[in-house]
Amino acid sequence: MFTTERKLPEELLYYRALNYRASLDKDSYDRKNRLERGFTGEQKYDEILDQTGHQNMYIFRDIYLNIGGSITQYDALLITESGIAVNEIKNFTGEYRVEGSSWYTGNYILPDDAPSQLRRAAGKLMRLRQKLGYDFAVTGKLIFPDENFHLYSREENLWNQVVLRSEMGDYFRSFENEYSGEFASKLADLVEQHIVANPYFKLGVEFGSIRNGLYCGGCGSFYLKKQYFHFACQSCGSRESTETHLVRAMSDFKYLFGSARMTTKRIMEFIGEMVDYRTVFRALNKYCYAEGRRKSTHYKFKYYDFDEAMRKEIPGRKYKDYLK
Ligand SMILES: [Zn+2]
Repeated sequence: MFTTERKLPEELLYYRALNYRASLDKDSYDRKNRLERGFTGEQKYDEILDQTGHQNMYIFRDIYLNIGGSITQYDALLITESGIAVNEIKNFTGEYRVEGSSWYTGNYILPDDAPSQLRRAAGKLMRLRQKLGYDFAVTGKLIFPDENFHLYSREENLWNQVVLRSEMGDYFRSFENEYSGEFASKLADLVEQHIVANPYFKLGVEFGSIRNGLYCGGCGSFYLKKQYFHFACQSCGSRESTETHLVRAMSDFKYLFGSARMTTKRIMEFIGEMVDYRTVFRALNKYCYAEGRRKSTHYKFKYYDFDEAMRKEIPGRKYKDYLK
């Protein structure tokens, strides 16, 4: 059973929002593409795991654990009565060659080899185990969910750690006889106690340095026409409610401007004043926590991102969206 949802990485949310409102330089563009690829790989992994079934284990996805003062990211942890399996998901595509500990694609050497990443991640859990004096197995696999990934290597040791796309079903099925009882539940609690927020996300742009306004959720166009309770996209024909647009703006604000405070005034400016003050004020109070008093009131978005807010709020909303 999934214990944590797979969320879009914060850095990807930043680049997506920025991409609509500014032109990305080469480095940002490449970084965004890498993050998009990584996320697609994780979704593929989830899908296959879903098909195989996972009622007999606790699964944590995309978490940061603080163990002994240092923080490590984990793509997926599978917890059963016998221990914890670390899964590092690598959505590589194309041909890779491994000699010794060097990974090559063409003539290019990858800067950080996947097995040592996995070793570090599993090592942290072993240290935790030692500290607590528990007895459980820590195993680790590198998972490659892309069908077009081909690996060439004579390193016996490496193959023991690798799970290719065609082997994923079998790998997940190897947990079939496992179960999650009291000890697994204790392990899951232990993991949960060490979860922290992503400490590495520090990106942000200056407020006012990027394009203001509202853009279409279907095609990204800023060419919108105001209707009573909707905006109609003049480029693709999608119609989204004013509320949807405001939620998107709040979510973008959260990821774009670092620690800049979201105030009514700033949001008004950010949306290019395309919605009247009262509607904005109402939406802020519905989707955010208000902090501070009167003139210094600022808002904290209640949700992780736009998608989460929509999922949770849509059932009670009056005006629908019509995406093309
Ligand atoms: Zn559109």
